[in-house]
Amino acid sequence: MKLRFVLPILALLSAVVVTPAAAAEADPVTAADACYTWGRTLSQGASGEDVRQLQIRVAGYPGYGGVLGLDGQFGPATKAAVTRFQQAYGLGADGIAGSATFTKLYALQDNDCTPVNFSYDELNNCNSDWSGGNVSAATARANALVSMWKLQAMRHAMGDRPIDVNGGFRSVACNNAVGGATGSRHLYGDAVDLGAGPQGFCALAKQARNHGFSEILGPGYTGHNDHVHVAHRSSRFWSAPSCGI
Ligand SMILES: [Zn+2]
Repeated sequence: MKLRFVLPILALLSAVVVTPAAAAEADPVTAADACYTWGRTLSQGASGEDVRQLQIRVAGYPGYGGVLGLDGQFGPATKAAVTRFQQAYGLGADGIAGSATFTKLYALQDNDCTPVNFSYDELNNCNSDWSGGNVSAATARANALVSMWKLQAMRHAMGDRPIDVNGGFRSVACNNAVGGATGSRHLYGDAVDLGAGPQGFCALAKQARNHGFSEILGPGYTGHNDHVHVAHRSSRFWSAPSCGI
């Protein structure tokens, strides 16, 4: 009688004990992540949606003045970005995205695919559905996600101290309400306005040059003495004269 109870209990206990250990030993390439799971090692020459997902997450590592293309083609620039990401986190820096790289990316992302230290909410204090800008709501949200991964890289490079985000996406109505420029990148979702935080405006503006922001506006540029604006645009425009930029 007793044995009949004990054995199932033992079986249950062993199942409970064994499962986490087995999960920890599983190949991280095949381990499921709530946001996105890579199913193969990625290296130069690879292409596909899994490459594009990787590019989004290493978009903050293009090198000084660079902007990584998010085209799903694993070329030399993607290899260089992966290498810089690996170096930033003390991983073997071979430019090949395998278990160690994916494990680090899984640890850095929330279930909604935003990097752990940034959220959709803080990049949109205009409305709740990302509508009414110059692009579709889905595009605005996707653009904001890329900017968040760039900020995550920048945050890490600056000692992992919090970065003060004052807002991002604006609908046309929100942009008009704050007197934003007609073609403001805030209407596209990729612009983010930063407070001084512990880093200070000029340190933020200077560091942003290394993390894929082709638009940087800061102290000394009209209307930007009280924040640093970082965004994506087709051709580089950096201006923060008071910071030597
Ligand atoms: Zn701005």
